Amino acid sequence: MRCAIISDIHANLTAFQAVLQDIEARGGFERIWCLGDIVGYGPDPKECIELLRHYDHICVAGNHDWGAIGKIDVDDFNPEAAAACRWTGQQLDQQDVDYLTNLPLVTSEGDFTLTHGSPREPIWEYLVSTHVAKFSFNYFQTRFCLVGHSHVPLVFELLAPEGECLLHEFPIDVPLTLDGNRMIINPGGVGQPRDSDPRASYAIYDSDHGVIWHHRVTYDIASTQQRMREYGLPYGLAARLSHGW
Ligand code: ZN
Repeated sequence: MRCAIISDIHANLTAFQAVLQDIEARGGFERIWCLGDIVGYGPDPKECIELLRHYDHICVAGNHDWGAIGKIDVDDFNPEAAAACRWTGQQLDQQDVDYLTNLPLVTSEGDFTLTHGSPREPIWEYLVSTHVAKFSFNYFQTRFCLVGHSHVPLVFELLAPEGECLLHEFPIDVPLTLDGNRMIINPGGVGQPRDSDPRASYAIYDSDHGVIWHHRVTYDIASTQQRMREYGLPYGLAARLSHGW
């Protein structure tokens, strides 16, 4: 089976469509594993929810998904994120709200646990250091965990039997083999990458070969920015897409 692993679409339909087209061109997929933050920041929240729901998929809740529907308090967000979250809430109908409300914080399939931030703190915790990641391995039972939230593609590996935690870059277009240690893997962000590479980031899990691929794809950033300007979303949120941070 081939699964598309995507995270942090952030209401960027142009980036989401580019990712789906890129996966199709690489041999397609049967199922989407989505790690949360479908909405927030970007101009197309409703369209992104609808497109995701069009596919066979599982998805967990991100902080923006629940912020947009008032399930968590947007006062905890920075001002630009909070403004975008309030705007997002106004674009959604009851079906969208029900869908986001019912997203689980954590789910699992086969060898993988899926969550947005971290298995210890699914909504808020960022996994960007080995110090925090090391403890996170105690909070899930499967061999592997997939996370988003930081929008940075990364791989944490727990060395057995010493328990040392290593942080690796997630190399592009090179298969990551899943035959050894436990790992926590972040596919990077679809709709707002933050690793200084503005291209949409995602991964493909190929269960037949036991590997995960990390890919990047260019998309029409200007068209997303244009819609953000039209809808009056904060300028900084549009500008950052050009820089990938
Ligand atoms: Zn996010």
